[in-house]
Amino acid sequence: MNIHEYQAKQLLSQYGVAVPPGDVCSTADEAKAIAEKLFAKGEKLVVVKSQIHAGGRGKGTFKSGFQGGVKLCKTADDVFEKAKAMLGQVLVTKQTGPEGRLVSKLLVAAAPAIKKELYLAVLLDRASSRPLVMVSTEGGVDIEEVAEKTPEKIVKETIDPAVGMMPYQARKLAAALGIKGDLINPAAKLLMGVYRTWWECDAAMVEINPLCIIEGPDGKDTIVAVDAKVGMDDNALYRHKNVQEMRDLAEEAPLEIEASKFNLNYIKLDGSIACLVNGAGLAMATMDIIQHFGGNPANFLDVGGGASKEQVTAAFKIILSDPHVKGILVNIFGGIMDCNVIATGIVAAVRETGLKLPLVVRLEGNNVEAGKKTLKESGLTIISGDSMSDAAQKVVKAVGK
Ligand code: ADP
Ligand code: MG
Repeated sequence: MNIHEYQAKQLLSQYGVAVPPGDVCSTADEAKAIAEKLFAKGEKLVVVKSQIHAGGRGKGTFKSGFQGGVKLCKTADDVFEKAKAMLGQVLVTKQTGPEGRLVSKLLVAAAPAIKKELYLAVLLDRASSRPLVMVSTEGGVDIEEVAEKTPEKIVKETIDPAVGMMPYQARKLAAALGIKGDLINPAAKLLMGVYRTWWECDAAMVEINPLCIIEGPDGKDTIVAVDAKVGMDDNALYRHKNVQEMRDLAEEAPLEIEASKFNLNYIKLDGSIACLVNGAGLAMATMDIIQHFGGNPANFLDVGGGASKEQVTAAFKIILSDPHVKGILVNIFGGIMDCNVIATGIVAAVRETGLKLPLVVRLEGNNVEAGKKTLKESGLTIISGDSMSDAAQKVVKAVGK
């Protein structure tokens, strides 16, 4: 699950990470009121930032033609105008895809004069199975380009999860960022705070881009997180009620929301062959074999280890609400799952949804004979697959590819 920038900043502040003061709002009048307060406190510049679950906002374009989802303003009236131009409009960025995202919330924050834009991210490194902190002096908007063209400019530090980030590691990373003198300690403190946010919130990823060196009110340099992106590890969400409340359903694909209601792991893809599988590993293998035989999967769908009839029916409905689906492959290995439960579910779902598309079913394992019998006796047109490759070939052929 992803959260908005303003929410990510709330979490980060709780761990002592400095962020520019500001507030979230959903109308232009509120935006103006927040800006007036900030200007009254002596801020010279205020930024209006579209809150969507995607980066690249600064360089994005609204479908209305308005340029930029992040705008700097010198007056509260300008904030009002910019907020008006963004709210209720669809912002298209490098990360949203051509359909873009509707902007219904804005973060209005102080925009201190930035001296240097840096990059910081914490994530789980699969290669070392450990937390990894990445920093770069080349912060700003194009970190993907830095990673591609000048990877040596990204410095990495692996963390021992048992002890967490050590102060010397934080100072080492600060030094790698070119930070010197009085700024080393606050920078190290910020790095430790970001790491603790990642660790204690069970985040999958925390990315601060840009992390900025700015001139503080006392004339001394300080370091603040100007942008923040946090992705949560969904498997640990149950431990974080405060984070669960940050879920924004408007940012999620409607079919994926429907699937999560029934505890189905569903991810929509671009192909034409829908898959209904139990177990993530088998689901991936199924997608691979469809592709191997020249087809394209329409989704990833894992009904889990012990799916009920209701779940199977819900899964069919979700699959069928994608207009690109031209055929369905059900691939079930009954370990915990009783094949007959799946078969009963399939029959009920086909009847209920009046399925017209070719349906290939491959059942194997626990109580498979009863399952096959149920399918056969249903009188429905179901193509039976004897093995995974047989089933995949049949469904690819059936959708005419
Ligand atoms: P995105 O990564 O989605 O484009 P950012 O929050 O990184 O959005 O904003 C893009 C750019 O806008 C930043 O790199 C920075 O230069 C500028 N910016 C964003 N927020 C602020 C701020 N609070 N103060 C000053 N400049 C800002
Ligand atoms: Mg950014």
